[in-house]
Amino acid sequence: MNIESKKIVYADNAATTPVLPEVVSAMTPCFETLWGNPSSLHDMGQKAKELLDDARARIAGILGCESRELYFTSCGTESDNWAIKGAALASKGRKRIVTSKIEHPAVLNTCRTLEKQGFEVIYVGVNSNGIVNMDELKAAVNNDTLLVAVMMANNEIGTIQPIKEIAEIAHANGALMFTDAVQAVGSIPVNVKELGVDMLSFSGHKIGAPKGVGALYVKKGVRLANLIDGGGQENGHRGGTENIPYIVGLAKALEISMERLPDNERIIRMRDRLINELLKIPYTNLNGDPTERLPGNVNVSFEFIEGESLLLWLNYNGIAASTGSACSSKSLDPSHVLLATGLPIEKAHGSLRFSLSHSNTDEDVDLILKVVPEVVGNLRKMSPIFPG
Ligand code: PLP
Repeated sequence: MNIESKKIVYADNAATTPVLPEVVSAMTPCFETLWGNPSSLHDMGQKAKELLDDARARIAGILGCESRELYFTSCGTESDNWAIKGAALASKGRKRIVTSKIEHPAVLNTCRTLEKQGFEVIYVGVNSNGIVNMDELKAAVNNDTLLVAVMMANNEIGTIQPIKEIAEIAHANGALMFTDAVQAVGSIPVNVKELGVDMLSFSGHKIGAPKGVGALYVKKGVRLANLIDGGGQENGHRGGTENIPYIVGLAKALEISMERLPDNERIIRMRDRLINELLKIPYTNLNGDPTERLPGNVNVSFEFIEGESLLLWLNYNGIAASTGSACSSKSLDPSHVLLATGLPIEKAHGSLRFSLSHSNTDEDVDLILKVVPEVVGNLRKMSPIFPG
């Protein structure tokens, strides 16, 4: 199949986004003429350093922090690893980490590694809408807690967590607060000072920059152990010659995302139309919170069918969606996020995520709404357990 010539309704923006043409234009000079090493003292190097400093200042301005509080990394996963392992290894005496059951594997598997190294991790549950259970969280955070790590927005069901409130609980107990904001930055307003967090991660490829660039905000004064030692890049905290083109692309993509925030009203209208119409299909339920959710996230479960079969039929009809997180889509295990909300395994298996963005249109939603009911109907006809 030649996917370059096929018209595709791309509704999988939580998995990744296309690199924006403006981002390509901003990056191109960094490959062609401005390719110096920012650590070099000659003009070529200093020009690259200017680009690096400028990108850092622009991103810091958007997130409400100082330039020196922002560190570039290779991706969201690295930022998550650094925040959590870095805090654990720099912690003096405290051994507990409190996180949620619905975190991305970049957080959950990092916590599991630390458990093997003698740290204690408490995985706090969520309610049926996917909001962290605050009583459970309050009970889990004590004076042995070094870090609370709760994601700002969930990648599968789009639920937005009360991060400010969670940060207050962490701080009242002398713990640090980290939020994985990979799905939030660029989609909703994010200001680190307003949230009151000590660390916040995000990633380029979710917001129109290339894959392979991310960043971590670390509040001034917070001590993190280095994850990547090397030459003194990133103020001596993250070795490796900086990826100037991608960092420049990240700054541009974030600026464009901010300009496009007013378009969220339209995206929310498309989202809600999609949800309301899909819920008219019998035996269908919405996953996640009806209002505390990302503008573009639609996650529904269709009973009596497998999400994977549905996905393949949608693909055949030119619609790109997902059964859950892109990272776990190769596995047929039911989503840990849906199970944590209390969804029975059978329903979790029939789940489907659409993630809309600025580039989607009402016509895209029309096509999805034409194809999904037909495909669901056909698959159910073949199902021996469908009551009819
Ligand atoms: N955290 C969340 C919430 C995500 O959705 C993702 C990617 O899907 C990541 C972390 C990992 O980001 P990256 O792909 O840049 O490593």
